[in-house]
Parts: sequence; C-alpha cells; structure tokens
Amino acid sequence: MTPQRIATLFAAFCFGTAAWAAGPHQHGVAQLDVGVEPGRVVLELDTPLDNLLGFERAPRTDAERERAAAVVKKLQAADGLFRIDPAAGCTLEKVSLKSAALGLGADAAPAKGEHADLEGRFEFRCKAGAKAGFLEVGLFEAFAPLKRIELQVVTQRGQLKAVLVRPASRVVLAR
Ligand SMILES: [Zn+2]
Repeated sequence: MTPQRIATLFAAFCFGTAAWAAGPHQHGVAQLDVGVEPGRVVLELDTPLDNLLGFERAPRTDAERERAAAVVKKLQAADGLFRIDPAAGCTLEKVSLKSAALGLGADAAPAKGEHADLEGRFEFRCKAGAKAGFLEVGLFEAFAPLKRIELQVVTQRGQLKAVLVRPASRVVLAR
C-alpha cells in the first residue's frame, strides 16, 4: 500500500460515522450550528467524543461509566451549557444525543475503529427568538479537552461563521 493510499484511508476514517456530521473529526475541535428563528433556537453540536470524555470508546470500568453518565447529564441540562440572551425568552424543549460508542441514539451501532463522535441537537422554544443578541456557550467550562468551537449561525438576517477559542464563550447573534 502506497503512503498516499494510507493517507486517503485515514482521512476518510476520521470523518466519523454520522450522516449529519458537519466537519472533520479533529481532537480539541467541535462544530456548532446555530439556527435562530422567531419561535425557536436550534443548536447542533458535532464533536469527537474525546473532547467530552477524554476517551473514544464504550466505557469499560465503573469509573468510565460514571464519567460517561456525567457527560450525558451535562448535555441533557443544555440550558446550563447554552445560555441564550434572556431578551429572546427561550426555554429548553428537547435534547437528542447520538453516539454509537455510548449506545445513544436510535441507530446506535457498535463503534468501529479508533475514533468516535457525539452529535447533539438542542431545541429551545422562544417567545422572541429574533431578539436574541448573543449566545453564551459553556462548553469550555464543562469539557476540559475542548479548545476550539467552529460555529455557523443562521438567522433571518443571514448567515455568519465564527470561531470560539478557549476561554471565549460569547457569540454575537445580532448587532
Ligand atoms: Zn478521535
């Protein structure tokens, strides 16, 4: 096998398994898509599992199982992780998590290979979503291995890209 062929396989491998994965699998980096509508704000997180857990496979020991359960609990309490400008009057409505390695999600299959991801979808119901001027992202506080979050924000006024680098937490949604 030529070195080039190996590199190609590795690149394909690192793209993760999920159909709705937004970006490449890179440790320390997560993708966060933010959709702001008048009645709701929807956040979609795509991250290597390592960023949340410090390892990327099914937990094997009681300590690892506890660690995984703590991660899931933090993600379920998404209104602590994602704090939307109070002017928008948003409340957390639904959290969906997918991670084959943790057995989360409808199509959870055993993880293959060395890498594993987690995808989360977080839906907030809002009284005035358009008034959301900012979003505070608490992922760096919650998950130590995470260093960089690449954001794509879609509002009714348009689309923007932003990057949060630890320890920054605030994303401006409207000016
Ligand atoms: Zn990995």
